Amino acid sequence: MAMSRLFTLVFFPQICSTRTGNTYILYLTSRLRMGFFTSIRNLFRGDAQPESAAQETNAGGTLPSSQTNGPANPNPEQKALTVALRQVEPRLSAWLTVVLEGVEKADDRLWARIAFLLSSLEVPAVEVNAFIAKFRLWLDDMEYERLEDFKSELQYRLALALDLEDEEDERSRLMLKLSEGLAKTREQISQGLNTLFASGRTIDESFWEKLEEILIMADVGFATAHALTERLRRRARTEGIREAAELRAAMRLELLDVFKPMRRISVVNPPEVVLMIGVNGVGKTTTIAKLCHRAVLQGKKVLLVAGDTFRAAATEQLEIWAKRAGAGFYAKGHGADPAAVAFEAIDQAVTEGCDMVFVDTAGRLHTKVNLMEELQKVARVLGKRHPGAPHRTILVLDATTGQNALSQVKLFNEACGIDELVLTKLDGTAKGGIAVAIAMQYGIPISFVGLGEKMDDLRPFDPEGYVSALLGLEKG
Ligand code: GDP
Repeated sequence: MAMSRLFTLVFFPQICSTRTGNTYILYLTSRLRMGFFTSIRNLFRGDAQPESAAQETNAGGTLPSSQTNGPANPNPEQKALTVALRQVEPRLSAWLTVVLEGVEKADDRLWARIAFLLSSLEVPAVEVNAFIAKFRLWLDDMEYERLEDFKSELQYRLALALDLEDEEDERSRLMLKLSEGLAKTREQISQGLNTLFASGRTIDESFWEKLEEILIMADVGFATAHALTERLRRRARTEGIREAAELRAAMRLELLDVFKPMRRISVVNPPEVVLMIGVNGVGKTTTIAKLCHRAVLQGKKVLLVAGDTFRAAATEQLEIWAKRAGAGFYAKGHGADPAAVAFEAIDQAVTEGCDMVFVDTAGRLHTKVNLMEELQKVARVLGKRHPGAPHRTILVLDATTGQNALSQVKLFNEACGIDELVLTKLDGTAKGGIAVAIAMQYGIPISFVGLGEKMDDLRPFDPEGYVSALLGLEKG
């Protein structure tokens, strides 16, 4: 078997197994979207010869020097790694565990191993080098040395580059994070539910009362808890469920029903403009930074716009994040008109050929009316300068504020219409049930959840993972 096929089997067995005619090409291209791995796409399409994946790095062995299909003359260490890779599940985390065996810090050994992994995936040398160089710059900026401090970022970058986020592996990582994050909420909900759903118990009026009570405790809110219980009652009636134990699965389905699938917006005329709104302190700046980081890693040219001209600290913070992520930045002086800032920023974004623009906005709620008028004006001006903008308006909410988040949704939705929600600080809150309340009352999709302060702690919202984590169930 040719080396390339062998590696394909090691790394992409699903491609080989589903391959019929050109089908695998479509499958693959739909999953890979960025420059790093264009070579793989081309290779499978058969219309390009990959460049050399040569690496000068020499640590624990010389890397392949001029092969076209992964390491052609693997040294003993690489051979051992290849054997080990073949034996693990084809998942990024499993590959990384094998490839990073014995690596403890950012040194030549690490670069050699990453290069080995990527060259095994037939990534051209220039793209391998670019990936490593970018990552090294980031490590320098962050002053990280030890592998344990940056391993998750490395995995995150590789996952984004490979567009592996929908892979089972990534889902279980999210599941794990969500479960950790929702631990407190789960204590509230699942302990109560465990007792309630314990086999043998029949479903009577006191059962429904108790269920409603548990949901209210987890900050699902009174109205939502009541509505959810009613829906479950109906389901139990139509499906003839009499035993409490059977109801847990029914509840999972009912909750899944609540979350709307994300609406995909395809932008006709770049740049795609995203208006970020939310009350001060909810984590808006951090979320913009995280979204920007993701977009840059996906190969997009991004501009961050400091539309909160009131808070100097927010502007400074945003500038730092833009620099770290490798994005552009636009700001005017303190107190400048936010609508003018937005207008001029779009000019800059168009001139520079940006793919995405994130516009930060003010969030001082004590001047409610002014703030809402200001946001409406910014949105209007954006649309005037760039038809269709803002293409997305994202409200950032702090999950720890519980029911208060609901009134923020109402207020901002009335003012400028919300397309998506980001729910931050789900880590360590006992109020994770708020996501259910928001979804049931407003039907606005939650696109991301914040599970910590690090850049890779912003994860796409996965309703299945969330509901399972909430109910203390195995997913699926
Ligand atoms: P802003 O005022 O809305 O721009 O809020 P910031 O982005 O400055 O965030 C306020 C605080 O919340 C900062 O200390 C952030 O590090 C923290 N933060 C933001 N998102 C999260 C999250 O998902 N989890 C946790 N634990 N903290 C977060």
